[in-house]
Amino acid sequence: MSNTDNKSNVDAKEIARFEEMARKWWDKESEFKPLHDINPLRLSYITERVNLSAKRVLDVGCGGGILSESMAELGAQVTGIDMGEAALTVARLHQHEPNLNIDYQQATIEEIADSDIELFDVITCLEMLEHVPDPCSVIGACRQLLKPDGQLFLSTINRNPKSYLFMVIGAEYVLNLLPRGTHDYAKFLKPSEISAWLRQHNLNLRDITGMTYNPLTGIYRLSDDVDVNYLVHATN
Ligand code: SAH
Repeated sequence: MSNTDNKSNVDAKEIARFEEMARKWWDKESEFKPLHDINPLRLSYITERVNLSAKRVLDVGCGGGILSESMAELGAQVTGIDMGEAALTVARLHQHEPNLNIDYQQATIEEIADSDIELFDVITCLEMLEHVPDPCSVIGACRQLLKPDGQLFLSTINRNPKSYLFMVIGAEYVLNLLPRGTHDYAKFLKPSEISAWLRQHNLNLRDITGMTYNPLTGIYRLSDDVDVNYLVHATN
C-alpha cells in the first residue's frame, strides 16, 4: 500500500482512543504506566548507539512527550509529532516544568516528509507503528527525513500466540495494565516484516533487541527475547 494523500495514513479510531486518556499522559499510575516504566530502557538503548547531545531528533507519534522530554533532557533538539491534539497540549504544557524547548506539531510523518524543510540526525518512532494503517509508509517517510548518516529507532509488538497472550489477554484482561481494546492483534508486526520494509527503503538493519516484562516482579529489561515487545535500530 502507498499513500498518495499524506494525511491518509491515520486510523482515526486509534487517535480517538489515545485522546480519551490524554490528560493521564504524565500520571505514572495510569494506563500510561507501561510507557513510563519502559522509557529508561528505551532511552539507554538509544544512547548506547548515538550521542543525543545537540542532535536534531524527530519523535514520531510522541504522545504526551515521555520519550521526547527524556531525549531533550540529554541535550537533543527535539521535534515531536502526533495526530492527537489533546496529547500535544499536554506535552506542550508539561515541558515547561523542566523548561525544555521541544517543538510539538500536529502532523503525520508523511506530511513532514512532504514539506522537506530539514533532515534529522535521529528519528524515533516507538510504540506507534502498530497503530497506523500502513507502517511501511511511515518507514519510507523516516528514510526521506534522515540525514545521510542518520539513525532510526523503532519499537513495536511481535505477532504470535505468545504476544497475543501477553499483550492482549495478560496486559488488558488479567493484569489490567492497559485498557481493553488498546491493541489490535492483527496489527502487531513481526521483525521479518519490519526488516523487509527497511530493506525496501534502503535502510540497514543494525540490531533487534527484545524488551521483556516479568509479571511477578513488574520489571522490564532488554533481552534477546523478541517474542513480544522489541526495539529496532536501523541506519541510512
Ligand atoms: N511514542 C510514544 C507514544 C506511543 S502511543 C511513546 O512511546 O511514549 C502511540 C501514539 O501514536 C499516540 O499518541 C497516537 O496519537 C499516535 N499516533 C497514532 N497514529 C499516528 C499517526 N498516523 N501519526 C502521528 N501520530 C500517531
